[in-house]
Amino acid sequence: MMKKESVDFLVVGGGIAGYQAVLSLLPHGSVLLVSRGPLSSGSSYYAQGGLALPWGFGPEDCERHVQDTLRAGAGLCDEPSVRTLVGDGERVWKGLLSLDVPFDRDSDGTFLTTREAAHSVPRIVHAGGDRTGFLILSSLAKKVSEDPAFRFLSNHQLYRLRKNPEGRVTGALFLGETGHELLEIEAGATILSTGGGSSLFLRSTNPRLQRGDGVAVAARAGCEIERMAYYQFHPTVLDIPGQAPFLLTEAMRGEGARVVNRKGRRFLFDYHPDGELAPRDVVSRALWLESRKSPEEGIFLSLTHFPKGRVAQRFPQVYRHCLELGVDLETTPAPIRPAAHFQMGGIRSDMNGRTTLPGLYAIGEVASTRVHGANRLASNSLLEALVMGSRVADAIGSVRHLPETGDNSSDEPDQALLPSVDIEEGWSRLRQILWDSAGIVRTLPLVQKGLLEILEMIGTSRQAPVEGGRFALGNGLLVARLILEDILTAPVAGANYVVSEMPAPAVKNKD
Ligand SMILES: Cc1cc2nc3c(=O)[nH]c(=O)nc-3n(C[C@H](O)[C@H](O)[C@H](O)COP(=O)(O)OP(=O)(O)OC[C@H]3O[C@@H](n4cnc5c(N)ncnc54)[C@H](O)[C@@H]3O)c2cc1C
Repeated sequence: MMKKESVDFLVVGGGIAGYQAVLSLLPHGSVLLVSRGPLSSGSSYYAQGGLALPWGFGPEDCERHVQDTLRAGAGLCDEPSVRTLVGDGERVWKGLLSLDVPFDRDSDGTFLTTREAAHSVPRIVHAGGDRTGFLILSSLAKKVSEDPAFRFLSNHQLYRLRKNPEGRVTGALFLGETGHELLEIEAGATILSTGGGSSLFLRSTNPRLQRGDGVAVAARAGCEIERMAYYQFHPTVLDIPGQAPFLLTEAMRGEGARVVNRKGRRFLFDYHPDGELAPRDVVSRALWLESRKSPEEGIFLSLTHFPKGRVAQRFPQVYRHCLELGVDLETTPAPIRPAAHFQMGGIRSDMNGRTTLPGLYAIGEVASTRVHGANRLASNSLLEALVMGSRVADAIGSVRHLPETGDNSSDEPDQALLPSVDIEEGWSRLRQILWDSAGIVRTLPLVQKGLLEILEMIGTSRQAPVEGGRFALGNGLLVARLILEDILTAPVAGANYVVSEMPAPAVKNKD
């Protein structure tokens, strides 16, 4: 017999977007946050560089932030949405200050701001040097845990959305820890904040399980999904054989780190007049092209010209991690290679999180609000998570829908259509296919080949007993299909376009 519970507001996903929504909804009713894992399971926990704000908060500061966002977004941002995002910056900043998030200050107590690529001015606040995400998230989690109207349920994987006969979303079903038994939650409003899907790619900066589940479940329920072609690849990701990719924050380049080849040449100026401070998509593409020209050369991020002790003091977490892997950033340039980092598209939603399904809201990286266009401006993601976590409550907090029954989920079959390929093999194939066909440089034949291979794996699906691991692979395959199909029709913007021919690798000189 399936367990069933009832709540006013159901939030799925416990990153910064989810926790901010919980905080904003608690004055209006009971909130249940269901997540696949602990705080460290989502990307928010690992955000290093910081939070972009229209620092100064005057009309000119806001306008500059809007213009930088639009420029980085390469023509695909929705300008009114960007204005809303930036306009709410001061509100979320005040909210964070009221939570005592320990943002970094100088010896006079003035908040420190830094600059990152494609920002025209320093406007990024940070905490703990490079531990901004963790410190914001843990402050939010601590605050909401004090409220008796809040409950947290971990180790539950979103399975499907619950709907009433009129098609209104009235909660969701989850697979529990064993991956077999189902839990049904009926809710007045359902908010998805399950984050992005960059771990569907072979090389990714995201936690391992960020594989686009929210998009898959929403798509199956008939919700509009858009712009899945637009993934952002981060250029400066540590590349040590046998080690997981590890992000070297963009704030390093913002503060003067150099991208060099083995000879120490700063080749990025060959690609863009802003060199290291060019938009992320431009830099990643330049790294890709450069490594294709001379694969053995290697590409490095160098901070060796920083004053002694500065790297360890300003970027303590990154410095320590690299040191453990044998790279002392104070003295040695770090080998880098791009990796998938951020999903710009997702569940189509407005600036209050409303999706195309009544009763369902989407916020944070899982949502496509069109504020990032074809290429997100650095550190605008935490801003989006906080702003949308607040704005969703503005929309639904005052209009309470009581949880309704009426879904026949209690008769949920214990069978589902699931891929029958070996799960481990399926994942490694999927990640390789997306990396090869939907990566930094895409060609039509590769995209078509990738799509055929994904469809072939989907084609193995059979009715089988519901099981968490196989269900997750089914989600991954569906999202991969959406990405590849979208690439075939997506407008050309930023660096996410299909080239007619793969640039030729350098011909090796036989001598
Ligand atoms: C290494 C790294 C550094 C970054 N640095 C910055 C930065 O400095 N500034 C910036 O603005 N952005 C940065 N980003 C991007 C930013 O961290 C994310 O875009 C943002 O935190 C997303 O927040 P979110 O709340 O939408 O999702 P997440 O924080 O990813 O949280 C998703 C939540 O959903 C849960 N979940 C996922 N699937 C399921 C499921 N099937 N069922 C139930 N629960 C599920 C997860 O367990 C998790 O709790 C960085 C990202 C990474 C990976």
